[in-house]
Amino acid sequence: MAIETLRERIEKKQDRRGPDRCWPWLGYCHPDGEPRIWVDDKIGSISIARAHYLASGDEIPLGKEALGCPAMKECSNPKHFSLADRTEVANRILAAKGLRRRPTSHGAPRRTLSGEQIQQIFLSHEPTSLLARKCSVSEGQISNIRAGRRHWHLTEGLRS
Ligand SMILES: [Zn+2]
Repeated sequence: MAIETLRERIEKKQDRRGPDRCWPWLGYCHPDGEPRIWVDDKIGSISIARAHYLASGDEIPLGKEALGCPAMKECSNPKHFSLADRTEVANRILAAKGLRRRPTSHGAPRRTLSGEQIQQIFLSHEPTSLLARKCSVSEGQISNIRAGRRHWHLTEGLRS
């Protein structure tokens, strides 16, 4: 028996319901719903969209990623696949998870306070923890401002 090609293995697991309709994948789906197929030890298990390009002999251009069907996650109809920029794909995945890309690569984005806010913090008698929550900054930042260790040029002489 000849070794099945990747294309043949894909075709076996497609529930073809008409040329333009979504074809549910009858094979393995990743827990996140993405239909997948095992290629070989080197490539491992990849999405059906990616496998489709691989089986057609088309190279996926550098920086591009094969995208699955936007209407049905487990769809395996190649008509619904597309190529998109890698960064766009990454953003789409994050958007699907309800997250946005962080503007910086290191830790949480730093909040910047306006001069007016800094002066209000300096003059306020509210507890540090409450102010920190109100302004979405750390308690450390609040106490630094209150003690005049940070932004002293804005607060100097405000309290007499
Ligand atoms: Zn589809």
